[in-house]
Amino acid sequence: MFVLKIVNNENLKQYNTFGINTIAEYSVRLEDESNVAETIEFAKSRSLKTLILGGGSNLLFTQKDFNGLVIAIRNSGIETIEEDSTSVLVKVKAGHDWDNFVEQTVLMGYSGHENLSLIPGLTGAAPIQNIGAYGQELQNICEMVEYFDTEKMKGKIILNRECSFGYRTSIFKESIKGKFIITAVYFRLQKGFVPKTAYGSISEKLSKMGVTKPTPVDLRNAVISIRKEKLPDPKVTGNAGSFFKNPVVKIEKLKILQETFTDIPYYPATEGYVKLSAGWLIEKCGFKGKREGNTGTAPGHALVICNFGEATGEEIISFAYKIKDSVFNKFTVEIEPEVNIIT
Ligand SMILES: Cc1cc2nc3c(=O)[nH]c(=O)nc-3n(C[C@H](O)[C@H](O)[C@H](O)COP(=O)(O)OP(=O)(O)OC[C@H]3O[C@@H](n4cnc5c(N)ncnc54)[C@H](O)[C@@H]3O)c2cc1C
Repeated sequence: MFVLKIVNNENLKQYNTFGINTIAEYSVRLEDESNVAETIEFAKSRSLKTLILGGGSNLLFTQKDFNGLVIAIRNSGIETIEEDSTSVLVKVKAGHDWDNFVEQTVLMGYSGHENLSLIPGLTGAAPIQNIGAYGQELQNICEMVEYFDTEKMKGKIILNRECSFGYRTSIFKESIKGKFIITAVYFRLQKGFVPKTAYGSISEKLSKMGVTKPTPVDLRNAVISIRKEKLPDPKVTGNAGSFFKNPVVKIEKLKILQETFTDIPYYPATEGYVKLSAGWLIEKCGFKGKREGNTGTAPGHALVICNFGEATGEEIISFAYKIKDSVFNKFTVEIEPEVNIIT
């Protein structure tokens, strides 16, 4: 019989990449998805608030304590479900390290996900904000998502088209928010290879590497090298990657902004809308590399808020709101956190 191993008063500092000290009233590691129901029943029977924890790389604890049960998803494994001459369908358990999955399968010669190399965190969290980087998004390779519905208390599988994927969003951040635990994600990976090299400095990096006909491994190495140059390593300086999402505004709004800010960068979005660069807006407000006590933005990256010492979640969130207000006052554009704020 499965016995829940509940830990009392665990410090979650090493389980969140911001490195915030937060004490979980109760915590449990879920190493087998078959124990999800019992874990949720336990929480319900005691009216405990729950927090599902992956790698902790996209959340900010703002309180000293988390009063409730933290459920750390730690089931792991990759399984080939079907294979044909052009592709494979693989099932990856939610607690499997994302980049380990990318590395293992790229080394097997499969492609489609190499541009998403080195994104921190676990696979179960990846569909939630439809992770994306270097011109690729999870929605282009994800075939279905398996989750446990914590309201109806049963497992479900939903297909890609039912996931309402969008820029840094999905059904998991919208209509079913807070009512699910993702237990596995299925990916369709390709045996052939069409490299995506148009985004950012990928082609430049490949030519510096002396690569003219890249393989998936070459592209992965190029992405890893660029990311290591650009982003602060959370093991050294606490952070959660981009703190804010790029705001999406109507084309009419862009035209108004262009009257004053002639060089404002923008990118295509859905019809009638454009995506602005949150990093550019923040930089123009003077926040690039700005420090305030133990927090501030990364010297080379205005969009990344860091914990430079023993910052509390409260300090970080109040600095983030200062940035948000400043951007609104200068551009009348709302920027929203990409990071999940835990209260
Ligand atoms: C240096 C750095 C660079 C980054 N670069 C990128 C990037 O290029 N692109 C990008 O998209 N993101 C990026 N991120 C953000 C982050 O890595 C991703 O969002 C990642 O998918 C989060 O995974 P996680 O396991 O750490 O999630 P967590 O932070 O643990 O959780 C995130 C949210 O998902 C919920 N959750 C987690 N797992 C489950 C589950 N199994 N079931 C239900 N709910 C769950 C949590 O409750 C929380 O609300 C970066 C972060 C860092 C620190």
